[in-house]
Amino acid sequence: MNGLETRIREYFTDPKHKKLSKALREELNSEGLKYCYYCETVKPLADYNRKGSGYRNQCRECQHGYHYANHERELARMRKYKADNAEAIAAQCKRYRELNPLQGRIRDGYRRAKKLGAPVEEFRAEDVYAYWREAGIDPWVSAYSGKPLTPDNYGLDHIIPLSAENTPGNVPWNLAPCTKDENRRKFNKKVLPFRLLALLALHEEEKKNEEADSQQSLHP
Ligand SMILES: [Zn+2]
Repeated sequence: MNGLETRIREYFTDPKHKKLSKALREELNSEGLKYCYYCETVKPLADYNRKGSGYRNQCRECQHGYHYANHERELARMRKYKADNAEAIAAQCKRYRELNPLQGRIRDGYRRAKKLGAPVEEFRAEDVYAYWREAGIDPWVSAYSGKPLTPDNYGLDHIIPLSAENTPGNVPWNLAPCTKDENRRKFNKKVLPFRLLALLALHEEEKKNEEADSQQSLHP
């Protein structure tokens, strides 16, 4: 390795040589090595981070060195940007929350479930959207009345109430979109669409089966 490194350094003493020659590159490649232009050292490929299908020009040590040397400056730059644009950023966050009311409702549900001692799971709005997409539930239409939902009237119902004894709790498959009014009125579960209950039952059954399977694999 060192012989090659010495030859590369000699090669670069010629100011016309800005980049490695093809012959030198091929020689490095054939031995799984790479030359770092920053610390001017030949190192194994494993010492470089990947970039796309290839490797970075800087070895990992040089890359980290650069990062730490500029860390404070980068932080200061970010803080200044945030301070200079505080109002615009706050407005953007508010707008985002208004257009995506689900995340806030999930948080409310999480708090209520905790308070009531119902089961809770960590998940995000994306997980609920994904589950609803799979189940054919439109996130912007009440699953109970078919009323269109807006950021203002957006409610989130626990199909089996959090206060019910055997509630699945605050989990994606126990959630249904509805209007705030419908949610507040402590919806009469008799009008609950049969399909939602069937989906919920199916999910519970799948979960039980999975648990049974994992029990079996633990005790074959
Ligand atoms: Zn380096």
